[in-house]
Amino acid sequence: MKIVIDPTRCQGHGTCAALLAEYIEMDKWHYPILSRNQLKDSHLEAAKKAVQLCPELAIKIIE
Ligand code: SF4
Repeated sequence: MKIVIDPTRCQGHGTCAALLAEYIEMDKWHYPILSRNQLKDSHLEAAKKAVQLCPELAIKIIE
């Protein structure tokens, strides 16, 4: 599974980086950068929470 972020939807709120620090860093403009996107099973619940809490519906988990 992979995490993907749609940059056309993202507004830089940063919730995702707080929940998935192992995968997402914020750049100097406060937009997320995926440092890796292959999701470990052990991080799936945190990733699902990031999907649910993204106010812009910009995050997806794909196979
Ligand atoms: S939580 Fe959503 S809107 Fe906020 S930075 Fe992450 S992807 Fe962008």
